[in-house]
Amino acid sequence: MITRVVLSLTVAIGLGTAPIAQVPTPASPRKVTVVRAGVLVDPDAGASTRNVVIVIEGDRISQVGLDAKIPAGAEVIDLSKLTVLPGLVDAHTHMGITYKEFPENNIYYLTYILDSTPLRAIQAASNALQMLSSGFTVVRDVGNNALYVDVALRMAIEQGWMPGPTVIPSGPIIGGMGGQFSPTPEMYQQHSIVYPEYIDADTRDEIIKAVRQNLLFGAKVIKICVDCKPWGYSVDDMKLFVSEAAKGGAKVDGHVQTPDGAQRAIDAGIYIISHGRALSPEHHKQMAQKGIYLASTDTPFTAYRGSEPAFKDTVAKLRSAHEHKVLLTFSTDMDYWNDRMKNEKGEWMSRGELTINFLQTWKAAKIPAADTLRALTMTGYKAADVIHERGPIKPGMYADFIAVTGNPLEEIDALRDVQFVMKNGQVFKRDGVMVPEKLLHPGPINGWNRR
Ligand SMILES: [Zn+2]
Repeated sequence: MITRVVLSLTVAIGLGTAPIAQVPTPASPRKVTVVRAGVLVDPDAGASTRNVVIVIEGDRISQVGLDAKIPAGAEVIDLSKLTVLPGLVDAHTHMGITYKEFPENNIYYLTYILDSTPLRAIQAASNALQMLSSGFTVVRDVGNNALYVDVALRMAIEQGWMPGPTVIPSGPIIGGMGGQFSPTPEMYQQHSIVYPEYIDADTRDEIIKAVRQNLLFGAKVIKICVDCKPWGYSVDDMKLFVSEAAKGGAKVDGHVQTPDGAQRAIDAGIYIISHGRALSPEHHKQMAQKGIYLASTDTPFTAYRGSEPAFKDTVAKLRSAHEHKVLLTFSTDMDYWNDRMKNEKGEWMSRGELTINFLQTWKAAKIPAADTLRALTMTGYKAADVIHERGPIKPGMYADFIAVTGNPLEEIDALRDVQFVMKNGQVFKRDGVMVPEKLLHPGPINGWNRR
């Protein structure tokens, strides 16, 4: 794996056949940690078990059980008063954009001009810490990240510069001419000002090239605009996206905003549909039959966002999707800011708190807590395509889990009070306080070439 990455980098940076020394990745420390969980939740089964011991060796779980052997010299973490569960997944967010009421008037075209790529990368790093503190250990970061801020964020976290969720980056969204924008001719001429946000791909050759560009620069998922413009993508276009993305091991996520676009995306069999507002019960039925994931981005109605009619519609559509047994993920599109984003105490809500507040919609749609938790965990891990190594709390998996005071199977709002976070076997939050000191490093401790 590492060798392949080094070789592809060699080509990417133009060294051709020049020899390049492979820098060995330092062996992962075999530190042994034992966690005593008061309650352990299995979201797949919708069940919990009392007094479970979890043994972590290095960054992975090695034993789970009532009678797990505690190795001598292990550090023991007592969570016996807490409920332990897998980390959470936001299946649709944008870590490197924050559009604002002032000065942009919520027009995110302007954000692209006002906030540089480096500034947005630093916003993304801050958002990563805030998300992890709220228990989100995986985020699907699907576009609107200037020039690959999402990929850079993933690499910074993978290389060990800083702690953060596992980021599944898409790179710029690929769309027919204009993407989601209505650019002026001036913007189009000065392609470098605003166009980094979208890649125009109208013909089959352009589609192939756009997919390859994103894969080359580190995308793990291909995000497309299905129907942002009247020309949109046809079923055949989307099948081409699917086959080309598969060459790089990536799946296709389609932004959908019209009923026709939804039908074409379903017919093409893309992996995941983003946004639920254009979907009918008939679409839900077909998605369930075909096993297409839904990231419906279910915005709650709050003092800082939304309207009552829009919320009613969102709730009804989420409910219909649930009734039709669509593969539901928890997804937000939480990428904006205004000065009303405060809690009852008048304190700023973090990006993580704003994200978990989307539970409001799930509660209004009367989705059972066990199903909401499954969307937030197992279905999210599958949609993020990381279920083979992250998610279930069982031997061999990365040690990514959180602990809360209540039991989310009984009261889903328990997820708002994350007391403990472990990511890759390292403690990030303990007793409700972030403890990242030891997780910040002056260099790429996991290897410079880790993507
Ligand atoms: Zn979005």
